[in-house]
Amino acid sequence: MEWSQNVVPDAPIGELQAKELDGFEGGLFWLKQRKIWALLYHPNPGTPGRSNFTIAHEFGHYVLHRKVQEAFQCSQSATLGISGAKIEREADQFASYLLMPIDDFSAQVAGRRMTLDVLGECAARYGVSLTAATLKWLEFSDQSAIAIMGREGMLHWWRASDSAKKYAFANLHEGMELPVDSLAVRSDLVLSASNFRDGVEHGTGVWPFPMPVREMAVISDRYDMSISLLILDDAGIEHGDAPDDDMVTTPPTF
Ligand SMILES: [Zn+2]
Repeated sequence: MEWSQNVVPDAPIGELQAKELDGFEGGLFWLKQRKIWALLYHPNPGTPGRSNFTIAHEFGHYVLHRKVQEAFQCSQSATLGISGAKIEREADQFASYLLMPIDDFSAQVAGRRMTLDVLGECAARYGVSLTAATLKWLEFSDQSAIAIMGREGMLHWWRASDSAKKYAFANLHEGMELPVDSLAVRSDLVLSASNFRDGVEHGTGVWPFPMPVREMAVISDRYDMSISLLILDDAGIEHGDAPDDDMVTTPPTF
């Protein structure tokens, strides 16, 4: 609000409110009479990271798109990337850079073995969800790693670090069945493995990659949804050029 008052004094953000919003996660509206913008976000008391991301997303619309539209309503499916609208992707990207500066994030994880605990620390540091922190890490990591979201046993979307993209493009597609022995579908394994936050080592043949894989998984029974983080053991395999970014499927934000 302070920034907008300094930079755009004739059209600042004058209201910032948590509000029960029917069917959408956040909104940004130009109030003609008062000559201010109102930024609203659905309260998520249990998951403050989600509200932070929504606020940052709406702020992104303010910074990037306020001259294009006078009203933005971002449903979860919009912020989930399902609608695929360009301005929604831009607002998501703005939010992720605003909340998780890459220089700082790199310093936090430098030299550490990646685990859910390490990512969880980063998520807490930036006030974002574990998923948002994971996707950000994949953007700059030089490790070969892939995040896979599954729903009802099927692959819903994936995102890979640069050096893992070629393996993902070659072996993964939306709608494919998740491997039967993966943590993604074996919630019993997730619960019984004492070190599951560190990941379970799979030989080749569990996930469809030509190398062993360490898998960490977060499973939500309530939504019948899983997110697996796969660390590919590609030591000794030469990295080629990463495919173009435009080919990557758009992931949701949480
Ligand atoms: Zn939006």
